[in-house]
Amino acid sequence: MTKYEALKKYFGYDSFREGQDILVDGILSGRDVMGIMPTGAGKSICYQIPALLMPGITLVISPLISLMKDQVTTLNQAGIHAAYLNSSLTPGQYRTALKYMVNGQYKIVYVAPERLLTDSFIAAARTMEISMISVDEAHCISQWGQDFRPSYLKILDFVNLLEKRPILSAFTATATREVREDILALLDLQNPVQVVTGFDRKNLRFLVQHPQSKWRAALEVIHAHRGECGILYCLTRKTVEEVCEQLVRNGYSATRYHAGLSDEERRHNQDDFLYDRKQIMVATNAFGMGIDKSNVRYVIHYNMPKNMESYYQEAGRAGRDGLPSDCILLYSGQDVVTNQFFIDKMEPPEDTDAKTAAMIREREQERLKRMTFYCFTNECLREYILRYFGEYGQSYCGNCSNCLTQFEEKDVTPIARKLIGCVKECHWGYGLVTIADTVHGSKSSKILRARLDENPWYGSCADVPIHQLRQILNHLVMKGYLAVSTGEYHVIQLTDTSEDILNGGTVLMKTAKEKPKLVSGKKQKRGSSGSVSGDMDHALFERLRALRLEIARAQKVPPYIVFSDKTLVQMCILRPQTHSEMLQVSGVGEMKYAKYGEQFLTLLKKES
Ligand code: ADP
Ligand code: ZN
Repeated sequence: MTKYEALKKYFGYDSFREGQDILVDGILSGRDVMGIMPTGAGKSICYQIPALLMPGITLVISPLISLMKDQVTTLNQAGIHAAYLNSSLTPGQYRTALKYMVNGQYKIVYVAPERLLTDSFIAAARTMEISMISVDEAHCISQWGQDFRPSYLKILDFVNLLEKRPILSAFTATATREVREDILALLDLQNPVQVVTGFDRKNLRFLVQHPQSKWRAALEVIHAHRGECGILYCLTRKTVEEVCEQLVRNGYSATRYHAGLSDEERRHNQDDFLYDRKQIMVATNAFGMGIDKSNVRYVIHYNMPKNMESYYQEAGRAGRDGLPSDCILLYSGQDVVTNQFFIDKMEPPEDTDAKTAAMIREREQERLKRMTFYCFTNECLREYILRYFGEYGQSYCGNCSNCLTQFEEKDVTPIARKLIGCVKECHWGYGLVTIADTVHGSKSSKILRARLDENPWYGSCADVPIHQLRQILNHLVMKGYLAVSTGEYHVIQLTDTSEDILNGGTVLMKTAKEKPKLVSGKKQKRGSSGSVSGDMDHALFERLRALRLEIARAQKVPPYIVFSDKTLVQMCILRPQTHSEMLQVSGVGEMKYAKYGEQFLTLLKKES
């Protein structure tokens, strides 16, 4: 079998995506590989196809039980013998799985990193032909990453215990240089083939809003995506509770997830969402790692997250099937305060000296600042994201809230001078909120206690809305006319160029003429690029979806594992009537056809 035949037969796809074939070829030629690709790019296939074509077995190291379960279910559905070994198995089940593995019944086995160095696993591993060890979520090996797992450091010890060194392959969506270097070094990859694909997710539309009411803004998104699945991320458990309760009270199909719930409830709620029993997941960032649900049509950030890495990872859970999806961030100034609070009380990792701890804190601080800028930039949001991850995008993507907004350039020099003047006259350092309040003329006790009402610029912008003052302050910081100090207090300071403005320089700022309309998800699919849906029959799509749900419930698997939304959309457009036409549909392989093909064909024939 060739790699193309395997791709078609097991996964139902006609061609490889960017980077996939290079990695597959690398492995098949016996080289180590490292693949860095964004979420949804299709990393799994890069090691699964070679695993099928090589003799012996492939071990996949994976950090999470839910992730392993999902992957193994997907493989089994595709007719591939695979299993997982982790703490969710009883000792009896574990022994049986180990025995089957040694007997060569599986091509692919997922293993938790903690298992590798146990006596029983080592003994078993030494009797088998292991052709490859594949490290999924490889960034977990790095202390620079957010998900550091000490047990990942043991992978190399395990490899060294084997008589013959298997091929090593590593995959992650984390692109930073430190993480990349750690993976190469700590896994001791030998002259690996490296692929770093673009981080752009063209099917995602990025939007930032500064709404008066986040609740109403969120409802607007939910309504635009009626009948579709979405995730709503909040910063705190309390907000999760409140928003979820309010949604449920108002009749929405919502559930919740955060670290304060029992294991039992978390599992239950997660399954409700995965199996399409509930449409909206309201969660903290505890939710999502290992969630492969491909038909998430929107991700709302009810609060600004702590950094761009978290944001892109969480927002990236939308649209894994490649269909158009929305990522909306609802900003408020309070989000910065909450994140600051988290940074301030952050415990440094064990064994870090004071200097390192201070450095880590400073880095978090810097990341928070860059995240805040994202919410204030008037430039293309996609470009901002890509630049953050070290890539260069185009300055216009046409599919983010800034590119979709009509801006006008406003001269804000008079206000800018007052703000800078106010900072200059302060005898003490103050934060952004306090400076804005001062020029606005606030009578709060904080302002009066600090005697800021004696500042010559106090109340000089009483007629400018406070949010606009904050916006202009942020703009001045972004342009370098003011700076925010790092360290414990984040006070606004003058810079080398502050005086330029006071001495006659001008400050221009783009402001929105009108807000972009959030078109409904369904309408959006029609016109937008990258979409396969064209003018499709939505009633038929719903009937296919209902059939999929029925099958999924009978099989006890999540619906997207039966067929992805994208596959159903293709069925609507191509309307296959025969076995061979059905196999033309992307995502329908021979194995899936044997299982479900007839049922879908019957429905499609009835419809034509
Ligand atoms: P990642 O692990 O990189 O986040 P996955 O491996 O989960 O991404 O793949 C994301 C989705 O893309 C899956 O539904 C997968 O079946 C699909 N996919 C992967 N490779 C291809 C391909 N060559 N053609 C079409 N779809 C693909
Ligand atoms: Zn854009």
